[in-house]
Amino acid sequence: MSWDVAISRAVQNNLPRVYKNLENFPYVLDLARQLREAKMEVIRNMEKYVEMTVESVKRIGGIPHVVNTVDEARDVVGKIVGTGKTVIFGKSMVAYEMGLRDFLKERNNEVWETDLGEFLIQLANEPPSHIIAPAVHMSKERAEHLVRDKLGDLRKGATHEEIVNKVREFLREKFLKADIGITGANAVAADTGSIILVENEGNIRFTTVSPPIHIAVAGFEKIVPTLYHAMIEALVQAAYAGLYPPTYINLTSGPSSTGDIEMKRVSPAHGPKEFHLILLDNGRLDASKNPDLMEALLCIRCGRCHLHCPVYRVMGGRWGIPPFTGPMGAMWSYVTHKDPKPATLCTHSGGCKEVCPMKINIPRVLEKIKHVYFKRS
Ligand code: SF4
Repeated sequence: MSWDVAISRAVQNNLPRVYKNLENFPYVLDLARQLREAKMEVIRNMEKYVEMTVESVKRIGGIPHVVNTVDEARDVVGKIVGTGKTVIFGKSMVAYEMGLRDFLKERNNEVWETDLGEFLIQLANEPPSHIIAPAVHMSKERAEHLVRDKLGDLRKGATHEEIVNKVREFLREKFLKADIGITGANAVAADTGSIILVENEGNIRFTTVSPPIHIAVAGFEKIVPTLYHAMIEALVQAAYAGLYPPTYINLTSGPSSTGDIEMKRVSPAHGPKEFHLILLDNGRLDASKNPDLMEALLCIRCGRCHLHCPVYRVMGGRWGIPPFTGPMGAMWSYVTHKDPKPATLCTHSGGCKEVCPMKINIPRVLEKIKHVYFKRS
């Protein structure tokens, strides 16, 4: 069964849910407006907010790392992880941008993606095709065949639930034995140094709490001024992704701690004893100073623009540089890889701009990037 069938099923399943969310929970529209303002404040003063975040993470007992390139990021993570460890990933597109999974495997670590979509594309050895649904190109029939082939013991014609259950059984032991958990962050609060992660599977909750070391990786643009803004980012992202209310919102502020003996706060307690936050630039700071590009940094990775875009519906994950696909990916392929070519495929239908919660004028940003491409060629 072809990938366009899988994408068209995803469109049918997802779009009505998003419209229903916005109808049933209209306060989300106001939260999105507040979030846009808050994120714009950080974009205009990015260096200041990176510094503030670093100080806040130190204050809560975490270890911050600011890195300019993906090579530097791999180097830092490589030193923390070492070799011969079991590493579990929550879903993180920045980790993909850094190439962490392959890098850590090459260093003789056992590495598992734990988000179901990421796990499927790890098994298939394919790149992600959508920013929040990395295996959206994979039909249920293909996922069934793949899981049976790699994990065995799954009946022909297995239901969605049976496929999920097979993966659940396989990953359970990995969650328990992992030495290191690596996650992304939906938002990073500059005032408290906390990270927020929104999810439905429960894999991120395991990944942030079960292993003794938690490493969170995030681009500079994930920083918001306060914990309040980080919380509302989780709500807005979930509503526009069509998953509202989200099953879990995870707040992590440094390593685990307790104040249960004489109310003295000590660390660690039952959760991780080390918390690292790796903040990645990789083109973001430049973009924040470029009036033609800065709006791209408002993206909260809801994935809505993809499904409303005629080009993405035809091309899927082949449009852009993974993990940056679709309309947002055409912008982000330029931000992170300085590659203007994906922008040239935009047909300016304008659907993306209509539905983007951050009101990013995506066609205008892509037009500016097209100018760069044509000037170069
Ligand atoms: S560009 Fe807008 S619609 Fe697209 S993923 Fe980002 S926030 Fe969502």
